[in-house]
Amino acid sequence: MTPGRPVPPPLAKPLPGTPPRQGTAPLEGANQPAAPTAPRLAAAYGATATGSGLVPLTVSRRAPKDDDVEIAIEFCGLCHSDVHATRGEWGAQTYPLVPGHEIVGRVSRVGAAVEDFAPGDLVGVGCMVDSCRECDSCLDGLEQYCENGMTGTYGAVDARNGDAVTQGGYATSVVVDRRYVLRVPENLDPAAAAPLLCAGITTYSPLRHFGVEAGDVVGVVGLGGLGHMAVKLAKAMGAEVKVFTTSESKVAAARELGADGVILSRDEAAMAAANRSIDVIIDTVAAPHDLNPYFRTLRRDGALFQLGLPSGGMPPVNPGALIRRRIAYAGSLIGGIAETQDMLDFCAEHGVVSDVEMVGAGQLNEAYDRMVAGDVKYRFVLDTSTLGHPSEKADA
Ligand code: NAP
Ligand code: ZN
Ligand code: ZN
Repeated sequence: MTPGRPVPPPLAKPLPGTPPRQGTAPLEGANQPAAPTAPRLAAAYGATATGSGLVPLTVSRRAPKDDDVEIAIEFCGLCHSDVHATRGEWGAQTYPLVPGHEIVGRVSRVGAAVEDFAPGDLVGVGCMVDSCRECDSCLDGLEQYCENGMTGTYGAVDARNGDAVTQGGYATSVVVDRRYVLRVPENLDPAAAAPLLCAGITTYSPLRHFGVEAGDVVGVVGLGGLGHMAVKLAKAMGAEVKVFTTSESKVAAARELGADGVILSRDEAAMAAANRSIDVIIDTVAAPHDLNPYFRTLRRDGALFQLGLPSGGMPPVNPGALIRRRIAYAGSLIGGIAETQDMLDFCAEHGVVSDVEMVGAGQLNEAYDRMVAGDVKYRFVLDTSTLGHPSEKADA
């Protein structure tokens, strides 16, 4: 709980399912709900070893079970977590590993018990595809904090599906239990909506948890995929936004995104001028960095949410910086399923999407290098129509 701030009321519980939707018309030409008996091969790109880069692969997708939704993926965002994971920066991985957890596409087949999705629906999948559905966190709609461990969209052991290792969204299709599938509002551009499934919800959740509203001052550290979404979402919530960036080239761009102030974080005088001016900081930096200068910019009862998960250690936090102003140093992991739907609906209402640069399969490795260099405004999105066709035999 953030000191001095009310916790927002719990969001609607996502389980066991929403009422059937009315009048959903299948897309012309989309697969009709044929007997869901056969697994399908999907063309994909992924890593085969720590240093392999991304190469063409073929993955097998299970035949939809009763509660499953099969999705023809159209777009998938490139998150910095995909770089950390495929390059082994977060420790040992199971290869081959197809990354991607910012998935948008159209439903192609549904299982017999699925009433809330139909072929042709525009849907999304974020960072998790299952959780225990029984623990307090799951029952509170906070499946990302599942006390038995949520099942990540890629690289995770899928206990309900024969302990198969999940493979992500740099692929032409995926099969996911309906409880973890989101409805993407049709008024959102599907490619620009894809990054909402991770970058959007990961920044929306702590802003909501802190209860950000008009009159609050939000600081955003790092203007990449997560950071630019934090700016847009905080502005849409009515806050004043200050961006901290290491990149002089992003100063004007930050203002174009809606930032009211931009501070070059390596400029000590500019940092000192921001002393005690901010209520909550959303820190999205993907590399180790010193947080103490940011604590000084917070007002009493402020909070810093660290969202970035660098592979290296961080410089130590000075407890005095926290104690003197009753400052909270917190972390936050993506968001629950109901909260993710809430975020998508909020974005549809406020016209919020990501600023994207489209890439084809052959540009994925270059896009990773550019992301690490901070050279993207602000999210690469893979057009899965460039993935080609699956081979006759699955690699994973
Ligand atoms: P990104 O697009 O690469 O943006 C990260 C930004 O951090 C960069 O644009 C840059 O902004 C800043 N930065 C990078 N290297 C830096 C360095 N050496 N020194 C200072 N600043 C640096 O990455 P992202 O996809 O937004 O992800 C950011 C982090 O969040 C990653 O670690 C990712 O794994 C993590 N993540 C966490 C969650 C969660 O649930 N908590 C969810 C998704 C991602 P400037 O150029 O403006 O300085
Ligand atoms: Zn992500
Ligand atoms: Zn659970």
